[in-house]
Amino acid sequence: SLTVDALVYPKYGRPTEVLKWHSYPLPALTPETVHVKFLASPINPADVNQLQGAYPVKPPFELLGNTDDTKYAVGGNEGVAQVIATGDKVTDLKVGDRVTMAKAGYGTWRTYAAGPVSDFQPLSKADKNVTDVQLATLSVNPCTAYRMLKDFVHLEKGDYVIQNGANSAVGQSVIQLAKAWGIKTVNVVRNRPDIDQLRDDLMQLGATHVITDDVLGSHETKTMIKEWGQPKLGLNCVGGKSATEMARHLSANGQFVTYGAMARAPLALPASLLIFKNLAFHGFWMTRWTDTHSMEERTEMVDDLVAMMARGDFVEPKWTQVDWKEDSVKSAVDHGIQGFGTGKQVILF
Ligand code: NDP
Repeated sequence: SLTVDALVYPKYGRPTEVLKWHSYPLPALTPETVHVKFLASPINPADVNQLQGAYPVKPPFELLGNTDDTKYAVGGNEGVAQVIATGDKVTDLKVGDRVTMAKAGYGTWRTYAAGPVSDFQPLSKADKNVTDVQLATLSVNPCTAYRMLKDFVHLEKGDYVIQNGANSAVGQSVIQLAKAWGIKTVNVVRNRPDIDQLRDDLMQLGATHVITDDVLGSHETKTMIKEWGQPKLGLNCVGGKSATEMARHLSANGQFVTYGAMARAPLALPASLLIFKNLAFHGFWMTRWTDTHSMEERTEMVDDLVAMMARGDFVEPKWTQVDWKEDSVKSAVDHGIQGFGTGKQVILF
């Protein structure tokens, strides 16, 4: 029987203090279950919050082969795995298929897992052109971008969307989907010494315009955005001053969707934006969408995204490799939510 190596935690706390390596036997195959081998799992901001106990999705704490009473949660929520064995009654998955997790909270920082087919999302469109990193980072960020662009306002070809945190993995997904669907984007990023490089990278991905947050509130920027075309939709990754200034650029009756809070500062809104401009403010949470929509709707979106990847219309986020070693993962987790990073950190097993 196979041994699972996992990065687990017995309680919430500082990631480096609570995370530990744990090995346990992979539960035996039953007629209704499959065995999967993990290929790649990212470290997302939410994984770090979850470890700290500050995230609404609580992972299951389980014995994981322990004979004393210590229960562990396995770190991570997102990842791609390959089916290595199927129970006799399993028809929907076959050995060799790649799958992502059907729900948040699964625990993806481990080498193997066993579970019912319903734990996993099949990826029927994932041909050889689609990389493990693309699939490992599919369920959260590209799906979030996809829903936010589709569900809040009807966008015609040529309409504008504005977003801050445009260099985040979600932001890069928004840029690529908007490009593919004929929607234009104003992309707000933090200024930095190598801003020209970043601007080039995002333009290469399909960004229409890239502007820095230090000029977002200026009169000149306001005039410029009006000339381009006022956005009908604003996507807020950051909060604080950036969010307030971004809201001012929306067109009348515009929709403003908050999905992140990277600056950790509350959203302050002038009443005039609600009263006179009639802007509507929403929150979006992928986990809630998944919990309130059918597997068919989810599969339709996933298939659409994976088909874009197979065609070369949707590339990997910027990423760096994290080795599957206790110290490497711990320091990657510690590094997890700091700025000016080198892209999404992805464990390759
Ligand atoms: P990434 O790790 O890919 O990117 C994080 C981004 O945040 C970077 O672009 C970084 O900018 C920026 N950033 C970091 N600190 C600050 C700061 N103080 N002020 C402004 N920007 C900052 O993140 P993800 O794309 O995975 O996630 C982005 C956010 O979206 C997170 O808050 C995450 O929790 C949230 N999220 C929410 C979802 C939902 O369903 N609601 C789903 C997915 C993500 P820089 O490039 O300048 O370093």
